Amino acid sequence: MNKKEKEFFLKMLEKERERVSKNISYAREVIEKGEKGVPTHIADYGTDEFEKDLEVGLSNSESQILKALEIAIKKIKDGTYGICEGCKKKIPKERLKAIPYARFCIKCQTEREKSEK
Ligand SMILES: [Zn+2]
Repeated sequence: MNKKEKEFFLKMLEKERERVSKNISYAREVIEKGEKGVPTHIADYGTDEFEKDLEVGLSNSESQILKALEIAIKKIKDGTYGICEGCKKKIPKERLKAIPYARFCIKCQTEREKSEK
């Protein structure tokens, strides 16, 4: 991966990181507001349920993505970005464009998902 490509992916990752961390802080804000003065639509739903849903949603998606994005940004700086953690081969650029924080090539990812089940 050349310098230009690295810059391209770094920009993409940083933009994505900003978006995801905004989502997370917004979700946290909603939780905090919910504890103080509960807006009626949340009150109807039940604060406990709402919080649980948010926490689950965050841990399953946004916060994991944020973590993965940070790892990817670090990898760009280390020069190991775009290398599969499984087979150590290059991850195709098309995959990185779709999922810039991908840690595995499609083959290794599929195998991991299989073994997790
Ligand atoms: Zn691989």
